[in-house]
Amino acid sequence: TTTVYTDDDADASYIDGKTVAVLGYGSQGHAHAQNLAESGVDVVVGLREDSSSRDAAEADGLQVETPRDAAEAADIVSVLVPDTVQPTVYEEIEPVLDPGDTLQFAHGFNVHYNQIRPAEGVDVTMIAPKSPGHIVRRNYERGEGTPGLLAVYQNATGEATQEALAYAQAIGCTRAGVVETTFREETETDLFGEQAVLCGGVTSLIKQGYETLVDAGYSPEMAYFECMNEMKLIVDLMYEGGLGEMWDSVSDTAEYGGLTRGDVVVDEHARENMEEVLEAVQDGTFAREWITENQAGRPSYDQLRKAEKAHDIEDVGEELRGLFAWADDAPTDEQDATPP
Ligand code: NDP
Ligand code: MG
Ligand code: MG
Repeated sequence: TTTVYTDDDADASYIDGKTVAVLGYGSQGHAHAQNLAESGVDVVVGLREDSSSRDAAEADGLQVETPRDAAEAADIVSVLVPDTVQPTVYEEIEPVLDPGDTLQFAHGFNVHYNQIRPAEGVDVTMIAPKSPGHIVRRNYERGEGTPGLLAVYQNATGEATQEALAYAQAIGCTRAGVVETTFREETETDLFGEQAVLCGGVTSLIKQGYETLVDAGYSPEMAYFECMNEMKLIVDLMYEGGLGEMWDSVSDTAEYGGLTRGDVVVDEHARENMEEVLEAVQDGTFAREWITENQAGRPSYDQLRKAEKAHDIEDVGEELRGLFAWADDAPTDEQDATPP
């Protein structure tokens, strides 16, 4: 059974009087730093000397040091620089981590795949909000919460869970709910989800649908609307009320067609492919590939990005979005979507 923590489970005394170094002031960093500070926690932001984020952090009233100096002053070091640079930043701060300090992450990749091997004697925890940083910040300012995950990788002090919960409370996550997981589970499900379903699966589905229609002689504009633009309306309904609300909102024809043809498109072959993708996540093949790709200066990544940008659907979409008012006034996550 899964444990879900809420405000009642958190005890602020585990973070009161401690100093948190927030390394990085990007998406997650700016949200954690400001929410922690407003919850009464002492915060130091760690940024490199020439950082483009320095002005923003200082404008928000926060003290900025180098990552090493910030970590030295802190009891909890929250590692919120991009995952690909975390191992290098960790090398800088490792000498100043004291026994009993905490290394705090928002994603498990580097610890799980041994790109960071935390010193014995430090606690290693994860609080991973399930939203981009600006939503974490906005929810906090409104007195609302952002759901999050909690994991403990190393519990040297015996208080790692309580301290992580207090951290989660200070950034607003326990207001919504914090689900207990492990570094391994968070890392593997996150990578699988973004590869097979969210980022990879969805874009491939859209592109294949678009190409099928265009190759059959239909207009690119129609193909764009049917295969890409309407995606948001469908996803909003599922987000709000599950698959059921989506099926209830579309026409009976759409429901019957979808129920009979969905599994024809994403069939058992696609399922086998998903299992292969999952295996490459589990056995570290994907992680090794991505680490090597970064060490080589990202040659394949750059090429893939270029090819994706050059896809016809991007030109058609840009034109259409420019023509219609909804582009400037796209429904936000707070507004109700209109069913197709
Ligand atoms: P960002 O890409 O937004 O972080 C950018 C920040 O890191 C900037 O302040 C940048 O400053 C700084 N930075 C970049 N390189 C270095 C470096 N070499 N040394 C010091 N500082 C550096 O990161 P995210 O917030 O997206 O991700 C942080 C962590 O949170 C990751 O582990 C990620 O997986 C996780 N996470 C992210 C989510 C999201 O929605 N973005 C959601 C949940 C978890 P500058 O380059 O100007 O020096
Ligand atoms: Mg991810
Ligand atoms: Mg339709």
